[in-house]
Amino acid sequence: MALVDRHDLAWGTSSRSSRLVHGGLRYLEQGRLGLVFESLRERRQLLALAPHLVRPQPFVLPVHRGDRVPRWKLEIGMWLYDILAWRGNLPRHRRLGKRGVLNLEPLLRERDLVGGALYYDAQCDDARLVIAAARAAAQRRAAIANWTRVTRLHAVDGRIAKAELEDMLTGELGQVSFRAVVNATGPWTDEVRALEDPGNHPILRPTKGVHILFRRERLGHQHAITFTSPIDGRVMFVLPWGALSYVGTTDTDTADGPEDVRTTTEDVHYLLRSVNALFPSAHLTEEDVTGVWAGLRPLLRGPEGAGPSAVSREHRIDRGPGGMWTIAGGKLTTWRSMASELMDEIGRALGQPRETRAAAHAASAREPLPGGESPTLAGFQELAEAAGLPAPTATHLVRHYGAETAAILNLLRDDPTLAQPIHPAHPAIGAEVVHAARREFAMSVDDVLARRVHLAWETSDQGVAAAAIVAELLGTELDWSTEHRQEAAAAYREAARDRYGWVPPGH
Ligand SMILES: Cc1cc2nc3c(=O)[nH]c(=O)nc-3n(C[C@H](O)[C@H](O)[C@H](O)COP(=O)(O)OP(=O)(O)OC[C@H]3O[C@@H](n4cnc5c(N)ncnc54)[C@H](O)[C@@H]3O)c2cc1C
Repeated sequence: MALVDRHDLAWGTSSRSSRLVHGGLRYLEQGRLGLVFESLRERRQLLALAPHLVRPQPFVLPVHRGDRVPRWKLEIGMWLYDILAWRGNLPRHRRLGKRGVLNLEPLLRERDLVGGALYYDAQCDDARLVIAAARAAAQRRAAIANWTRVTRLHAVDGRIAKAELEDMLTGELGQVSFRAVVNATGPWTDEVRALEDPGNHPILRPTKGVHILFRRERLGHQHAITFTSPIDGRVMFVLPWGALSYVGTTDTDTADGPEDVRTTTEDVHYLLRSVNALFPSAHLTEEDVTGVWAGLRPLLRGPEGAGPSAVSREHRIDRGPGGMWTIAGGKLTTWRSMASELMDEIGRALGQPRETRAAAHAASAREPLPGGESPTLAGFQELAEAAGLPAPTATHLVRHYGAETAAILNLLRDDPTLAQPIHPAHPAIGAEVVHAARREFAMSVDDVLARRVHLAWETSDQGVAAAAIVAELLGTELDWSTEHRQEAAAAYREAARDRYGWVPPGH
């Protein structure tokens, strides 16, 4: 088994999500009970398989007079959500009066507030979840090659049996042969389907979703908040992320492709207006935005004329004329069940016995992802602090590596200088860069700073102050020349602000 990715793992939509593993309350409104049930089952599984990356998150949902979803409807929805989460591992919702909402979140708009609910979902580290899934595959002997693009597909006797590959970092070309090939390329799905059959009709209707980041103290909230935008009644979130908060998302049709999808001033203004109406004392402006991300939802085409938010979140599995499997649509939350369903179909087509397929399905629901081997993580925090690391660094390690925190501590035993922070305003340390190169397929400074340790979004300079040290540590692991190290750091410094920061027009 082999996985190739034209960029880094999770470079696409999977590092630009709302970072929720959730049933999707709003799908209840659309009557998509099957999707909510499947998502809540997956939420339960992922909380158990990767407790360091998928964490319980309490949400406050305030209801104001005139909101699109009235209180009675919310209450029915909440009961249904609890019922569909049957035998779940999160607490049930609690109904709140106006006082109850304000006790939990005093800075929410009091005017017209009539009550609300406290409920639970899960928040995840989207990019690291993808990397963990790829590592779990590698542990079962899959070959993983990021920065490797499929450029052409070749048929033998009418069946696609070979792919031409390009190493995107070196330009080197190669070929692989296979018995079955899967196109699981999110917003690139139609582009890759065209490699099999240029006459294929598009099956996707991608929409753009943007998030903006602030310092959490600017809003002063403790919980995640679910609310409906006063501008258009869409469901949105304010989500805590350590000392930061992010707000999202937009949902608009776009002509941007997946390589160049960008946050615009209109996106930022829409999000600012929505959140300022919810937190009237915050007066957030563009100057407060410390970071942004924009992604394309790889949504299946719906009926002509349907609005972006009404497009289906379900997935679909197709087989092209040359036999290539395509899996499209769906959500991050349901990745495991989508993959399992696909592998079952492929196994059947290849004549695999039913028991083998059932065993693989059961294993994916049972075996923890790397770092998720221990359900309780407190011991690793103590271990890290006992190794002399400050408490914030220990917490950061446990949230990123779970039970594999021990692997990071082992690196420190061999080289204590790796305990040094890589950035003056962030707890990440040098050992993580070494770990990223040795175990997590990191190939560039951006791979480390964006999708492995997240300084790109978690520091006000987008991690630029760490670029040189990351290039140095990565260069040692990957055998880079001095010149290459300097170029790699400079390339990151040049691109980071534009890619991850927000520069208000005129600055
Ligand atoms: C704003 C936003 C918020 C979201 N929030 C949530 C959420 O909170 N919870 C949730 O469950 N879901 C959420 N989603 C949906 C979820 O993020 C996506 O469904 C999921 O990440 C899609 O993953 P993917 O692997 O299909 O696509 P991607 O993550 O985009 O991966 C596709 C990969 O294919 C590779 N590729 C493309 N072409 C080639 C080629 N020729 N050769 C080799 N590789 C190739 C790319 O490099 C890329 O890495 C959100 C989506 C958006 C946009």
